[in-house]
Amino acid sequence: MNDRIKQAEALARRLHEGQLRKGAAREPYIVHLEEVAALVTDWGGDTDTIAAAWLHDTVEDCAPFNRADLTREMGERIAAIVAELTDDKSLPKPERKQAQLENAPHKSPEAALVKLADKTSNIGALVVSPPESWPRARLIAYVDWGVAVVNALPQPLSEQALAEFRRRVTMARLAFG
Ligand code: ZN
Repeated sequence: MNDRIKQAEALARRLHEGQLRKGAAREPYIVHLEEVAALVTDWGGDTDTIAAAWLHDTVEDCAPFNRADLTREMGERIAAIVAELTDDKSLPKPERKQAQLENAPHKSPEAALVKLADKTSNIGALVVSPPESWPRARLIAYVDWGVAVVNALPQPLSEQALAEFRRRVTMARLAFG
């Protein structure tokens, strides 16, 4: 594995240390980043895109770490891809979800690939370990929103990637019926 990817992984491990996923299994958050980085690697992402996959949630979830810190650590291109994947946390949750939908068509190919891996990972996790407090309707709404965001991403997307995403959506729809 190349040094920039190793550097990104180490930074993600340090910044997300102690964070847990929302699911009932309370997995360490890094499991999500391992999965997103592995998917982006399988789907042919370049070095900076794989590094951005490791780091895609750092600016959103690891305050006070910010874009300037990420630029200093990893350079402008990776920081720019991560910025495309960072929600504006000053917005209330419904507006943030709406903004993801509205912004999806404007993603760079690199950010679109990481976004597709992120949604694939999150929908897969929902099937294996749904958050305890989420009723069925909320699980279904999350899957529908994920599909809407992915459908709004710019084409072309990797067929292999879309096939894996659709496979997990199908599993989720079967599970939540
Ligand atoms: Zn994520």
